[in-house]
Amino acid sequence: MSELLKKLEEDLRNCQKCGLGKTRTNLVFGEGDSQADLMFIGEGPGKREDELGKPFVGVAGKLLDEMVESIDLTRKEVYIANVVKCRPPGNRDPLPDEVKACWPYLEQQLKEIKPKLIILLGRHSLERFLPGQKISQVHGQALRRDFPGIGRQVFFAAYHPAAALYQQSLKATLLEDFKRIPKILEKIKEESGLENKKEIEDLQEENKKEQIIKKKKQSKLFGE
Ligand code: SF4
Repeated sequence: MSELLKKLEEDLRNCQKCGLGKTRTNLVFGEGDSQADLMFIGEGPGKREDELGKPFVGVAGKLLDEMVESIDLTRKEVYIANVVKCRPPGNRDPLPDEVKACWPYLEQQLKEIKPKLIILLGRHSLERFLPGQKISQVHGQALRRDFPGIGRQVFFAAYHPAAALYQQSLKATLLEDFKRIPKILEKIKEESGLENKKEIEDLQEENKKEQIIKKKKQSKLFGE
């Protein structure tokens, strides 16, 4: 984990910025590779996560591991976090005030990790980043958006693994959707490669122009 994320996690250990701070057992900061290309964001910690202080460690977590492995990655190679870092009592949905209070911490994680692709797990996570979208309509799709605080970003909507456990047909859908992730990631990398190349070419062009202007000024100076 990067030093910045370590420090942020330490700073948050005793966070009481919203009511969830009073009822949690452990803060669930998030874990994984701080330079990961893929970042998974769920809604909030469940019972098991709250007990262990780790994201996605229950049965739904096992399914997520399976999905991550299905695209030839391991849990250690991605980053996993939630919209809120403390468990809402009785697994209720986090309240808008709680989501708002916790956002600056997720924002800092996103700015530090700079994932190429953010996988939004479930409708609550989808609603946080892409309000008004329906998971049943956009799952399996990559959506590029300008997001306040993090800039232009590609999101990928997927059903929450817990939903896939309740409804077996969703597991097959989830697996099918995950199959698209490597190709999407490859495309994003290609595009960012092209953008970098264009930036370098533009810079070289600008340098050339500056050199020409400099030479012209020198020749005037020496009366050539
Ligand atoms: S959910 Fe977030 S804002 Fe609320 S107490 Fe936990 S860390 Fe703090």
